[in-house]
Amino acid sequence: MSSLETRSLDGRRRMLPSVWMMNAPAFMPDSSVVSDIVPSANYGERRNDRVPDLIVLHYTGFADAATAIARLTTAGTEISAHYIVQEDGKIIQCVPESRRAWHAGASSWAGENDINSISIGIEIVNGGHDRGLPAYPLRQIAAVIALCRGIMIRRNIPRHRIVGHSDIAPGRKQDPGEHFPWQLLADSGVGYYAPPARIVDGPTLAVGSTGQDVRALQESLVQLGYDLPATGQYDFPTLETVAAFQRHYRPALIDGIADRSTLLTLKQLLAQRSIPTALAA
Ligand SMILES: [Zn+2]
Repeated sequence: MSSLETRSLDGRRRMLPSVWMMNAPAFMPDSSVVSDIVPSANYGERRNDRVPDLIVLHYTGFADAATAIARLTTAGTEISAHYIVQEDGKIIQCVPESRRAWHAGASSWAGENDINSISIGIEIVNGGHDRGLPAYPLRQIAAVIALCRGIMIRRNIPRHRIVGHSDIAPGRKQDPGEHFPWQLLADSGVGYYAPPARIVDGPTLAVGSTGQDVRALQESLVQLGYDLPATGQYDFPTLETVAAFQRHYRPALIDGIADRSTLLTLKQLLAQRSIPTALAA
C-alpha cells in the first residue's frame, strides 16, 4: 500500500494526511493490556496451522529496554517475541499472536520440539544473570500476570502450560531466572507452584547414580513436561534438567543434585496436577 485515499463530501478524492498513516498501527493488539505496537521484522507463519497453547516467559538480558526493543524488532537479528513487558509495566506487542515469533530457539516441552509454532513468547525487561539478575519490580510482574491471564482466557490455555525459557532449554538457557516470582504468578492462577520442601541432609541422586530411583526421577520430570530420556543413568542431561527444575521450583539451591527437598518438591507438584508418581521421596 503506497497511499491511502478517501472521498470528501463533494465526492473529490483526496489523500489522508501522512501523519494519520504514520500513527496507524501495523496490526491491532491482541490483548487489551497492550499500550503500544512496535512491529518486529522477525516472524513467520506457525507451521502445520498450529494455534498457540503454551506461554514461554523470558528475560531480555540486554542493558536496557530500548536496546531490547531494538534487538527484538530490527531485521537481521533473527529474534523476536510477541510481547515485551517493561519495568514500569508498560506492555508492547511486536508480533501478532497468529504469527510465529522467534524466541524459543532449540527447545522442547511435553513431547514437542517446534516450540515457536505452539507458543506465545513474552520477553520481560531485565538485565539477566550477566547484570546480577536484578529483582523484578512488582508493577512489572502485575503486568505479566494481567497479560498471561488474558491470553489464557482467550485461548483456553491451562495454568500448567506457562513455562520459563530455562524449562524448555535446560542446557542453554537460564531465563527468567531464579529470582522470578513464580509464586506470585501462581497465586493469580498463572502456572503451577508448590512451596519448596525444606533442604535437609540425606541421601541424594547425582551424576553417576543409576537404577530405579534415577529412572523414577527422570519419568517424573518428563511427566511435568521436561524433555529427558528415562535411562536410569544420572547423566549430564539429567543434571541440567534437575538444575532447571530447581531454578523454577526450588531456587534456594541450584546444583543439579536431586536431594530430598528436590524430590519432595517435584512429588508435590505432580500431586497438584493429580499425576501419579513413582518417586519414593
Ligand atoms: Zn529467553
